[in-house]
Amino acid sequence: MQAIILSIGDELVLGQTVDTNSAYLSAELVARGIGTRYHQTIADDRAAIRQAIIEASKAAKLVIISGGLGPTDDDLTRDALADAMGVNLVIHLPSVEVIRAMFIRRSREMPERNKVQAMHPVGSEVIPNSCGTAPGIKAHLNGATIYVTPGVPSEMLAMWRLSIGPDIDKLTPGNNLGSNPGSNSGNPTDNLSANPSSRRNVILTTKINTFGKGESAVAEKLGSLMDRKRNPVVGTTVAGGVVSVRVRSEFPEHNQARAAMDETIALIEKQLGPIIYGRDETTIQETVVAMLREARLLLVTAESCTGGSLGKMITDVSGSSEIYLGGWVTYANAMKTSQLGVPTELIDLHGAVSEPVARAMAEGALTRGKASLALSVTGIAGPEGGTIHKPVGTVFIGLASKTKATSVFRLDLGGDRDAVRDRAAKSALQLLRFDLMGVSLDALGFGRIVS
Ligand code: AMP
Ligand code: MG
Repeated sequence: MQAIILSIGDELVLGQTVDTNSAYLSAELVARGIGTRYHQTIADDRAAIRQAIIEASKAAKLVIISGGLGPTDDDLTRDALADAMGVNLVIHLPSVEVIRAMFIRRSREMPERNKVQAMHPVGSEVIPNSCGTAPGIKAHLNGATIYVTPGVPSEMLAMWRLSIGPDIDKLTPGNNLGSNPGSNSGNPTDNLSANPSSRRNVILTTKINTFGKGESAVAEKLGSLMDRKRNPVVGTTVAGGVVSVRVRSEFPEHNQARAAMDETIALIEKQLGPIIYGRDETTIQETVVAMLREARLLLVTAESCTGGSLGKMITDVSGSSEIYLGGWVTYANAMKTSQLGVPTELIDLHGAVSEPVARAMAEGALTRGKASLALSVTGIAGPEGGTIHKPVGTVFIGLASKTKATSVFRLDLGGDRDAVRDRAAKSALQLLRFDLMGVSLDALGFGRIVS
């Protein structure tokens, strides 16, 4: 079975508010084995909302709408739904009392226009709202079940959790992780369960996160795994330099979906190798902190162009104090010398952004910090400061260790100042990860070893 999600509001189409409701609803549906065909965002325009409702009701068995249920003239969803159904609105008196009681609790009198919120199309049902005034609506049109919730995210969420989610569990004969296994019999008169196409598959999704190679390089490695007709289907997305491989496995039975998912993950891991650092919401710093903890190693950092963001990333991980002693932000040359012992001559001769300075920073931090490992970062984040030989995006990363020779890595990053600084910090973490795994740094998708 498939769903369509509509979000209503001028503020959404004007870009003033981000549509978080649709994202939430899609994720909730997918967890129940219901895929979403599309999201549509519509302005507060009665005819346009009516049209969108009609189209959606013909294209899917389940339509979920959020927004436009407020008491003011720009809240038009209930009128548009009645138009689409070809019926009038009627007042639901118990809801008027609920709304009135809500105002009384807040020691206020109910404005007359709030009564509008108790109106619903003839032939539809109202859905109680546990934390706001506007009730929701459940209706049927063109063989589809339509749910309407208020746009306020907390009200939408409460209505989903208390009423709509459980209702969908009852109406669809699910055979997946059964959010509601006791009530799968459903209501035989309801068109959601009467139609065999509404039988739910199990949909499992996962995200495999990589850092180091660009999206097209990752796609090239994945090759035919990315065939759109494949099940599980494999796709890529990129955010903050992290290329994530998304896998979606859809089968009638849970074990089939799980087995196919595991098999596809294994193929992806084989193709992409060590640039994969974690699944789902795992960050690269979480992985690195776990590895350092496991190896009982202590890390210090010496940062220039990243201005402390490497230390920030590491300390984002709760419990990182077990492995991270701290660091230096030595932005000015004088600080590199006074705090880390980088010889002035080295800076004069090679420049602050250079292999020898990255090396000296890492080694200075290692000894001064009495750590087992030290990472240093020095680079040109831009927009000014680039030269022909060292353009903006040139970054040197040093890795000093108590047990082996220091290595320095040069990166040639693209993007603006924020991107250069962010990628430099993530690269340092990925570099450290490769080193801890004993994988050749050549296997990284970026940069090169300079010493
Ligand atoms: P409404 O029910 O249309 O009056 O919406 C009330 C408020 O909820 C709006 O002013 C928005 O701030 C917020 N809102 C409405 N729709 C959404 C949405 N799809 N995602 C996130 N916030 C929303
Ligand atoms: Mg609105």
